[in-house]
Amino acid sequence: MSIISGYGRKFGNYDHDQLVERSKRVVCKQCGGSLTTALIVYDIYGGAGEELYCPHCQKQEFGVEKEIYDLAEYYVENFQFNYFYDMEENDANLQLNISKVCDMISWVMKNIDLLDENGFKENQPDYKYYLRKRRKR
Ligand SMILES: [Zn+2]
Repeated sequence: MSIISGYGRKFGNYDHDQLVERSKRVVCKQCGGSLTTALIVYDIYGGAGEELYCPHCQKQEFGVEKEIYDLAEYYVENFQFNYFYDMEENDANLQLNISKVCDMISWVMKNIDLLDENGFKENQPDYKYYLRKRRKR
């Protein structure tokens, strides 16, 4: 009997082809490096799943759009953003701050309907829809 069996087109929560496509587009939100797909064993009882992985940071990483990473890096370096103020200012602190700003920018872009799991949307969002929604409050 094998613990990991049937590792095929779909394994875990994500579709293999979707992960491969995503890995071509996104970067690690901590180091900005490219990601690869990897079979991650969560624990011996909890099974395994295919995920995106950063070989540089050696961690599981879902990634962020490259454009958002570049904006976050610029923001942290030029606006002295420091969310982790009790931490020593070093490379790890810089990477965590860039990662935090990546989360913030991604959150905003998803919530104003400019970004989804397939990346930046090609069509403009329906801003009139948001105006109608705001008036109802
Ligand atoms: Zn990384």
